[in-house]
Amino acid sequence: MNILVINCGSSSLKYQLIDSESEKVLAKGLVERIGIDGSELTHTPAGKDKVEIKTDIPDHSVAVKMVIEALTDPVHGVIKSLSEIGAVGHRVVHGGEKFNKAVIIDESVIKDIEELSSLAPLHNPANLTGIHACEKNMPGVPQVAVFDTAFHQTMPRKAYMYGLPYEYYEKYKIRRYGFHGTSHDYVSKRAAEILGKDRKDLKIIVCHLGNGASISAVKNGECIDTSMGLTPLEGLFMGTRSGDMDPAIFDFICEKEGLTPAEMNTILNKKSGVLGLSNGLSSDFRDLCDAADNGNDIAAMTLDAYSYRVAKYIGSYAMAMQGVDIIAFTAGIGENSYGVKTRVCKYLGYLGAIIDDEKLKVRGEELIVTEPGSKVTVMVVPTNEELAIARQTLALL
Ligand code: ADP
Repeated sequence: MNILVINCGSSSLKYQLIDSESEKVLAKGLVERIGIDGSELTHTPAGKDKVEIKTDIPDHSVAVKMVIEALTDPVHGVIKSLSEIGAVGHRVVHGGEKFNKAVIIDESVIKDIEELSSLAPLHNPANLTGIHACEKNMPGVPQVAVFDTAFHQTMPRKAYMYGLPYEYYEKYKIRRYGFHGTSHDYVSKRAAEILGKDRKDLKIIVCHLGNGASISAVKNGECIDTSMGLTPLEGLFMGTRSGDMDPAIFDFICEKEGLTPAEMNTILNKKSGVLGLSNGLSSDFRDLCDAADNGNDIAAMTLDAYSYRVAKYIGSYAMAMQGVDIIAFTAGIGENSYGVKTRVCKYLGYLGAIIDDEKLKVRGEELIVTEPGSKVTVMVVPTNEELAIARQTLALL
């Protein structure tokens, strides 16, 4: 069966059509600037040339219609008709405490996702727009919601509660939820598989280091802690997000700079992290590593600070799980950045890791980077959230 995987943002829509039997990607693409001037669809069918269609795309429903047209086009399409799409799997960001696994979408699920929008005001409404657009353009095709938070729902209370008045949890469900769950689940499972072991017997730390970044502790197949919180702002430094900081800084800067809370929020989400710390140099680790290699001191400091925080989280999760068997790096930086991996791995000797530094230079491949005899296995496991969504969608049908 072919499964259409959709990841819908407020003005964008990413898609992949996956054949669930062979697990091959038949086509993938991106619709950008939906409802904004300059909208376009980029469609990449497997084994054929990429197609770019620049036209007015006023809303997500038109975007989905164009995706279906591209997939069924006689020249650059990969299927004959809509009837060859068996199901749609949607990435949904916030499932709150309601969803600990993927579900088939019906009216009550839509209502729940709507209600959870207060916890993810930027993401859940956008995800819903994608769901409605598919319902309209593909009536009768089953749709599944796969939540970014679901894998982390096994966290114990001691890991997810904040040191805040309990009433805020009762009234507003303020607690840690964690994100990138589909990736943490996929990578921890795959890491165990590569070693020929069962995830249920292992203690695994997954470092998902992309533009957004989070770390999780997966013990005996279940997430017991993760670095993101109520929102994706907590935890590591990220491309443009601050991660953990003293909450008193918020008010301090607002007062000194005459900023509103909304403006400060934008600074913490869009202008902080490695972009902010590098004094605006870049949020892209390729630029930061190049600059550091060329003697730029602030770029080197930014990479050191980033890697130090990753290492501190690894250390705390090794303590939380009372040991660690596997440390897996994934996502754009985790899969590719030698500059970050080598810096983080310098701290891992304490856990008994013996690193082959040459292997850290390999990019984007499944690879064990520790030497035989290493107490902990450090590996790179490229993530594949779309495939994970397709698998979960298939499993529900
Ligand atoms: P997201 O999905 O969160 O947007 P990705 O997982 O695609 O992010 O990661 C994007 C980041 O990966 C970029 O900011 C970039 O810094 C980093 N990255 C990608 N390729 C490389 C590379 N070859 N070397 C170093 N960093 C890389």
